[in-house]
Amino acid sequence: MAKPDPIDALAEAVRGGDRRALARAITLVESTRPDDQAKAETLLAQLLPATGGAARLGISGPPGVGKSTFVEAFGLHLIEAGRRVAVLAVDPSSPRSGGSILGDKTRMPDLSRATAAFIRPSPAGGTLGGVARRTREALLVCEAAGFDVVIVETVGVGQSEIAVADMVDLFVLMLPPAGGDELQGLKKGIVEIADLLLVNKADGDLAAAAGRTVADYAAAMPLLHGGRGKWVPPVIPVSALERRGMDAVWAAIGRHRSALGESGLQGRRAAQAVGWMWGEIDEALRAHLRADRAVSGRLGDLENKVSQGLMTPGAAARTILAAVLDGGRARP
Ligand code: GDP
Repeated sequence: MAKPDPIDALAEAVRGGDRRALARAITLVESTRPDDQAKAETLLAQLLPATGGAARLGISGPPGVGKSTFVEAFGLHLIEAGRRVAVLAVDPSSPRSGGSILGDKTRMPDLSRATAAFIRPSPAGGTLGGVARRTREALLVCEAAGFDVVIVETVGVGQSEIAVADMVDLFVLMLPPAGGDELQGLKKGIVEIADLLLVNKADGDLAAAAGRTVADYAAAMPLLHGGRGKWVPPVIPVSALERRGMDAVWAAIGRHRSALGESGLQGRRAAQAVGWMWGEIDEALRAHLRADRAVSGRLGDLENKVSQGLMTPGAAARTILAAVLDGGRARP
């Protein structure tokens, strides 16, 4: 009898919920070796029909706001309700696997011990685009393995929030209890893409400040998201440390899901998938361009001309594209 194809066997084991197979599959997806990438593509093609079943949640917020503490508390809350939870991270600043966000499992000690949970640190280094792609694919693998909820966490720096918001059904922004002045420092763009705001540390001495922060944001949200029938992000006080507010968060996620409806959800996911496709095309084309020696040799000169105002960006771009599209024929 022919030996079963190892990728078929891996796909089968992932769909069966085998944790070691899941970890191996994600390692394959994260690998940058060309032969692994071909295998990962075959694997993902086989898993694709089994994806789509999880609630995809993203969470971000400034360092120290309590994301890890919250993900642990919320994850345990979901597990107690019988759900299986996977936690992934996007952190392009992380120099290696096991970097700043989740590498240290002691940050989520109880959740990392739970058999119904799976925690995966950010894939090793690379561009945000590369890290985001591998996280999106890891998300699909987790769905195929039957997780009910996949939480993608990112630190509140750079463009990573946008990358995460683009791969989830609902994006949570976590805020500290703070006075109005401190809130000014928050990037408005990130508040605008959030579907749900959580004000953490609503406990002890911070409870009153948290209450004021909730009120401030709750007043601002309808102005930011005005328009009839549009989803106005709820603002919910929580205490990750005391594990309070978890029910309210899950209920809000459910309301968002109902408001979106099945067609809205599928529409959001479809638009995201097409967006990823174009993102990959852009990345691949740029890589191709830089690898093309005849073209890459001219890039610096054209950049200089554009920066000195000697050439318009449009004309420079057309020069580069013409050189690539000519397949070398018209190159000087
Ligand atoms: P992250 O950087 O956003 O992941 O934040 P952490 O989860 O590591 O938490 C940062 C600090 O805030 C830790 O010392 C936590 O114990 C503390 N912390 C987290 N959640 C709460 C909370 O709900 N209340 C209070 N008082 N402290 C919290």
